[in-house]
Amino acid sequence: MDFKNIPGAPENIVMSGIRPTGFLHLGNYFGAMRNYVKMQDEFTCFFMVADLHSLTTHPDTSGLKQNIYRVLAENIACGLDPAKVALYCQSHIHETAELYLYLNMLAYKGELEKTATFKDKVRLNPENVNAGLLTYPVLMATDILIHRAMFVPVGKDQEQHLEMARNFANRFNTRYEPVFPEPQAFNFNSELIKVPGLDGAGKMSKSENQMATLYLADEDEVIRKKVMRAKTDSGPTKKNDVKAPEIENLFTLLKLVSKTDVVEKFEHDFNTCTIRYGDLKKQLAEDMIQFIRPIRQSANAILADEDNLRKIMKQGAEKATISAMNTMKLVREAMKLNYFK
Ligand code: ADP
Repeated sequence: MDFKNIPGAPENIVMSGIRPTGFLHLGNYFGAMRNYVKMQDEFTCFFMVADLHSLTTHPDTSGLKQNIYRVLAENIACGLDPAKVALYCQSHIHETAELYLYLNMLAYKGELEKTATFKDKVRLNPENVNAGLLTYPVLMATDILIHRAMFVPVGKDQEQHLEMARNFANRFNTRYEPVFPEPQAFNFNSELIKVPGLDGAGKMSKSENQMATLYLADEDEVIRKKVMRAKTDSGPTKKNDVKAPEIENLFTLLKLVSKTDVVEKFEHDFNTCTIRYGDLKKQLAEDMIQFIRPIRQSANAILADEDNLRKIMKQGAEKATISAMNTMKLVREAMKLNYFK
């Protein structure tokens, strides 16, 4: 992998986060959580529930606590072990506010305004274009850099933010002293993933596109209904035809949860113009149910024990705070803000 390291910086730190803006879905799982679980044995991992990020678009905090508990529970249900990683809530790490402030001085209005996610959010919600929304990439960079993390398991939608985090790290290192390694997006299969929506447009998402998104909390019948309603076309018209985007999407989903021979069968049927989309969707629905059901059941059991979740959150905050405090010492030294010395 081609990235710049800082002498003395730890080489195996991983950081990533998920916003508590709704139920987790297949995109979160395949874009992020699947990698979290694989990384937990080999790396020092910091995984957080990004509650501060959610405030940029979801200022109503009445359901926030329950959403945070759900994100924690679903992460654990997917295989994350809180004894192996620091699983914490972003707002519990108070050092974040300080580093965010310093990095904001190194981020320029022009580049922040050009960020694709900022433009999308302005379009979706023109009456709440707050400064936090504009500086979202700075906060995200802070979350990563505060642990001097080098690897960031995220989906394809986060590529641009990661690029910005590298820019802020490099600017800090150049202006002051080298403190931050360059963080890289990370996926074991090397290609970053985007899990498409069932409507053939956009991606699965917590807050938008809900009928086209499969949630880890969806009941069997809901999964069946959503998959059977997925958009298709009138079928291939010639051998080895090119797949329309909505058909390609169904195959992408099939590849995520079905056995190879099942995928090959439907590929063959498509290429020989014998495919029946009804059969494809039925198979996809059943395989999805087999995939999601154990996660849903396990998450519900974990959610029922709130005392345990609070304990996990507290332990995670303690681990993450130690790491953040260590980084902030280096940051203040580098910036010569150590006036008592
Ligand atoms: P959402 O967009 O659903 O609100 P977040 O912004 O909280 O999700 O992102 C949490 C993680 O899930 C990030 O690493 C992001 O890249 C990943 N992710 C979200 N949606 C998808 C998707 N449809 N495909 C792949 N990864 C995704």
